[in-house]
Amino acid sequence: MSIADNLKQVTVGLPQGVRLVAVSKFHPNEAIEEAYAAGQRIFGESKAQEMTAKYESLPKDIEWHFIGHLQTNKIKYMIPYVAMIHGIDSYRLLEEVNKQAAKAGRKVNCLLQIHIAREDTKFGFTPDECKDMLNRAQWKELSHVRICGLMGMASNTDDVEQIKAEFCFLNSLFQEIKATWFADSTDFRELSMGMSHDYHEAIAAGSTLIRVGSKIFEEREYK
Ligand SMILES: *Cc1c(COP(=O)(O)O)cnc(C)c1O
Repeated sequence: MSIADNLKQVTVGLPQGVRLVAVSKFHPNEAIEEAYAAGQRIFGESKAQEMTAKYESLPKDIEWHFIGHLQTNKIKYMIPYVAMIHGIDSYRLLEEVNKQAAKAGRKVNCLLQIHIAREDTKFGFTPDECKDMLNRAQWKELSHVRICGLMGMASNTDDVEQIKAEFCFLNSLFQEIKATWFADSTDFRELSMGMSHDYHEAIAAGSTLIRVGSKIFEEREYK
């Protein structure tokens, strides 16, 4: 199967309001160009330098989404162009993105990453940490970031019921946060969840942004 065929498989029948982030991390420009030629415009990367190098050499109408764990010293490289940062997992990081965005005269779209999986290896706020941060209200002063929603990763398991339960939990948290802190805002509307092996469950549970990599670009040796 070609990349174009794989893309079609994922996007055919995608419900309205669900967008695909094609996760191109570790894949060369040629693979992205193939997906681009097939019409894909949103790509996801997990390393700041790699994403910036790709941004510089690929068409400028690509929307670059950063889906990795963001180190504060790497923020500045992506600030001029990044379309969405999915992995905000601390207030300090949000503050730092705001600071760099202010310097660049931009307002940067961010998603708060919530830890929903059973594994404790994954990053993210716990639901309580996230609510505490929102309650402290300092974030409202950060005028160069736009909090657009939540992001999460389900447990890495074959237990489909477990995965569904985690996605449904994230959706209910999303609704609660929206009603409590963003009732007057149209910005808070994205729920980023679902990867190659679980995006169907994520869509059923209300995802608006699925992040699919290996199913499109196929398995490769990861560094
Ligand atoms: C790599 C990655 C993906 C894509 O995973 P696949 O299983 O290859 O679809 C999605 N989200 C995050 C945060 C990732 O790191």
